Amino acid sequence: MSKLAINGGEKVFDKEADIIGWPPKYDDTEKLLCEIYRSAKWSFNGKYERLFDEKFAAYQKAKYGVFMVNGTVTLESALAVFNIGPGDEVIVPAYTWIATGMAPLYLGATPVIVDIEPDTLCMSPEAFEAAITPRTKAVIPVHLYGSMADMDKICAIAKKNNIRVIEDCAHAHGTMWKDKAAGSIGDIGSFSFQESKTMPCGEGGICLTNDEKIFERLDRLAHIGYPREVKQGCKAEPPPMDLLCRNYRATDFQAAILLGHLKRLEEQTLLRDKNAKYITKRLKSVPGISVQKPGKNVTVQGFYVFALLLHFEELKEGTTRAEIIKALNAEGLAIGTGWGAGEPVFEQNLWNIPSDKYRVEDIRVTREYCGKRMITTSLTWLMLSEEDTSLICDAIEKVMAAYRK
Ligand SMILES: *Cc1c(COP(=O)(O)O)cnc(C)c1O
Repeated sequence: MSKLAINGGEKVFDKEADIIGWPPKYDDTEKLLCEIYRSAKWSFNGKYERLFDEKFAAYQKAKYGVFMVNGTVTLESALAVFNIGPGDEVIVPAYTWIATGMAPLYLGATPVIVDIEPDTLCMSPEAFEAAITPRTKAVIPVHLYGSMADMDKICAIAKKNNIRVIEDCAHAHGTMWKDKAAGSIGDIGSFSFQESKTMPCGEGGICLTNDEKIFERLDRLAHIGYPREVKQGCKAEPPPMDLLCRNYRATDFQAAILLGHLKRLEEQTLLRDKNAKYITKRLKSVPGISVQKPGKNVTVQGFYVFALLLHFEELKEGTTRAEIIKALNAEGLAIGTGWGAGEPVFEQNLWNIPSDKYRVEDIRVTREYCGKRMITTSLTWLMLSEEDTSLICDAIEKVMAAYRK
């Protein structure tokens, strides 16, 4: 067995940690940004805003898109169009970015936090069903990192109980599912284009839907009440009385950056999908580690993060996640533990919500799998050459061999 780099042995992956660099920059996007700047037409039904709505919705197989300022207000808006508010409950998974848990709180509703599945790390349909009460109005499954929640089961349970389904697709750009795509399965799909995401534009988000009425409400809500066809300053039919409208409009600058990413999304997604499949295959025979499972029925997997799970039962007694991460880091692999150390949403650093404002169900799987077993890497890992991808597997194999039982 070769000596681990952490013990003075030779490093397997001796390259820059950030080989690719994210976000990517494109000359055609730079040119378009300059043109938009010179045009002095930047927002309010801008040409590129509306083009992006259309093109991104089509890519994700949805009929309508409403582009907004970020992927937090898209979640809030998705709940708001259904008049969700005080006294209502919204079910969310225990492991997610805080925005998913905060969205119901912005409207005075109560987030109900439920467990995840140990293989996909996405919301457990059984846990969702068990948490339903007469107050439950919506559920927000999160398609975590590059996997997908079990939408067949979640949608069936939701339908039976008259619950709205909002897909949090902040990690699922380009993910295809049966004959549909992430974001076009539930009532509304919410995406984020924040700087760290798969399609970054600084700040941005979009809501997708197939329902014309939902689209019109979303569009008015994000557009301070205006219907789409009305020009700035012109008189419009006011929005319905039950819809409190905001200004959540984004600009043509962001849309132009996103159109540049969208042109390359399919090629990049297929590359990440291919490399992830290769790594998964290589690690199948390696004791102590596995790759986060893609969701059931996922045909092309979009990735935000590449997550792996440690299986301590196959490792030397007393081995810890911190030890494995240190050893992998020493071999040249940049690896972390997700948000914080994989804490549930209500224990994350920025969550300042009093405990009577939300409810937590039994979340044993989240504590065990995200809190102890999960290790994560950047999506750029999945965009390397075959040779580099193979080296990554060599490094993991080397470390795991040293810790196996
Ligand atoms: C990033 C993210 C969001 C929110 O996106 P912002 O654009 O940063 O507001 C929502 N949900 C999840 C799971 C995310 O990772």
